[in-house]
Amino acid sequence: MGPTPRQPLTGQTNWTATQSSRLYGLDAWGQPYFSIGEQGHVMVRPQGERGGCLDLPFLVRDLQARNLSLPLLIRFDDILEDRLAKLHDAFACAITQYTYQGCYQGVFPVKCHQQRHVLEHVVRVGRRWNFGLEAGSKAELLIALALLDDPDALLICNGYKDTRYLETAILARRLGRRPLVVIEQPNEAHGLVACSRRLGMAPLMGVRAKLSAQGSGRWGSSSGDGAKFGLSVPDLLATVNTLRDGGLLEELRLLHMHIGSQISDIAVLKEALQEMGQLYVELVALGAPMGYLDVGGGLGVDYDGSCTATAASTNYSLQNYANDVVATIQECCQTQGVPMPTLVSESGRAIASHFSVLVFDVLSTGRVNGVVPPRQEGEPLLVRNLRELLTIITPHNLQEAWHDAVKFKDDALSAFRLGYLSLIDRAKAEQLYWACCRTIAHHLGHQPIPADLQPITAALAATYYANLSIFRSAPDTWAIDQLFPLMPIHRLHEPPQALGAFADLTCDSDGKLNRFIDSGTHKPLLELHHLQPPDPYWMGLFLAGAYQEIMGNLHNLFGRTNAVHIRLEPRGGYQVEQVARGNTTADVLTALDHDPQSLVERLRRDSEAAIVAGNLTIPDAHRLIAHVEESLRQSTYLEPDIRFS
Ligand SMILES: *Cc1c(COP(=O)(O)O)cnc(C)c1O
Repeated sequence: MGPTPRQPLTGQTNWTATQSSRLYGLDAWGQPYFSIGEQGHVMVRPQGERGGCLDLPFLVRDLQARNLSLPLLIRFDDILEDRLAKLHDAFACAITQYTYQGCYQGVFPVKCHQQRHVLEHVVRVGRRWNFGLEAGSKAELLIALALLDDPDALLICNGYKDTRYLETAILARRLGRRPLVVIEQPNEAHGLVACSRRLGMAPLMGVRAKLSAQGSGRWGSSSGDGAKFGLSVPDLLATVNTLRDGGLLEELRLLHMHIGSQISDIAVLKEALQEMGQLYVELVALGAPMGYLDVGGGLGVDYDGSCTATAASTNYSLQNYANDVVATIQECCQTQGVPMPTLVSESGRAIASHFSVLVFDVLSTGRVNGVVPPRQEGEPLLVRNLRELLTIITPHNLQEAWHDAVKFKDDALSAFRLGYLSLIDRAKAEQLYWACCRTIAHHLGHQPIPADLQPITAALAATYYANLSIFRSAPDTWAIDQLFPLMPIHRLHEPPQALGAFADLTCDSDGKLNRFIDSGTHKPLLELHHLQPPDPYWMGLFLAGAYQEIMGNLHNLFGRTNAVHIRLEPRGGYQVEQVARGNTTADVLTALDHDPQSLVERLRRDSEAAIVAGNLTIPDAHRLIAHVEESLRQSTYLEPDIRFS
């Protein structure tokens, strides 16, 4: 639980964009891509410090004018490129600083974002560094084989491998690719020896070590003795022997580790790197040529900008990370007189998080009804008690008043259950209770809220109904309580007037967003603005470019959202590079083996029967079928013109 949420920030007239920036942490996590402009709009600098600026709400408006309705995923291809450049700059800088006698050559893990345009873009812009791909399954291998046409880029082959996977990887070498098959299970070495014999050629190979250094945080169990992947030291030795006996030791080139995603604490990484360095040196001593040391993924993202070793943050920068990898491995090799390897990393999250922004609209808000009901003759005592309480609340008796209010409300509920209170009187009791809460909250103003009065803020918070499915667009918020920065993308020069949390479109009580970043911790409510219909209220979910799209599911049949790729134009403005239309209702029905056409036919038959029976007029039948047919063609999300207000 974060610091005490404050009262709705009413009465502040001199609110500035800078205050919003601080409030939502944008000045910390948004650097260098996101900031707030004069008009209170989120501004995007897709090329970081180097290039121009786009006004996000204006961009959304223009995309909507192209019939790209919300929720809308905007992918800034320049940000992806800039992240790649920053990663390579950091390693180049570390290599120079420590005069490391080797180079860095990274790969992008396909599992982090499999979408074709994204991977094509990574391969295209990565070419200047011979940046490669990492595959973790047979399907990912096929993608990587087809897309990665740079003969000098690495194609790291991870995951479970059957014979077809192995043979495909081996044959890819003949295509001029550089597949490196990483042995992760003890029996894979035997498979490789057999396949190589059959094909008369060998692949380049690596071994994945199961490190004793225990990871930390959410993905900590990816290393340590109980890890799912990797070879223990005895298995590592057995593998070396198998390869030697099979005449393949000459092709053992890489040592691999992956200690889990989002490493928050750099100390954990350092310990793993030291162990890796020693293992590498030992493998060289055993006669393997080696040449590559792969530190896997895990490079974290500072989602809340707090620079701490907490789950949504990291206590290190990209440069710290590169420095530690370079320095630790150098020290190991130097001491042992072993040539320094090419350093490989498989950073997915750190490359792909920043470039996409999900924009969604708020449909309406729900808040408790605190209207005081008119007084009537003969009201029950409980109702009269609440009425009286409401008149005597002063800044000096807030705690007492709060406890009384809760007590009276609970008594009213009991009385209703036992049949002593009518529905109408229960409604009055609830309204009066809320009115008391509001009055107490009003008196609390902006002071720190005493612990036992904290529930009042949550009780008075508004629910913002959001046009999205978290199961589709931010599944990790639900599955593993991940935090992403979330904030309005406009009206940021106005003070927020309410505290709220979000409910999504699904009929699932888990379909909500009620944990928000709060500098090293999290808070249950977010500062928001009152809706001003018919003007829209647009929210942006940031830093969610990694993993969310593929993990997203069809819960309640909400399909893929519209997505666009935006590229900054050199002379200002932007170019819409790609449009990927979201799923239509017909798409998602088809995915579940329903046939949209026969569905329409069935309804048509039934409506004809209803017309004959005199239960349905022909115009109404026409209207029904038109709605069904149009729904099938439309997005699965709410359409702007038929929303409730
Ligand atoms: C998932 C995975 C990665 C990517 O991890 P990030 O934390 O996203 O950088 C890299 N390598 C392997 C083997 C993985 O399984």
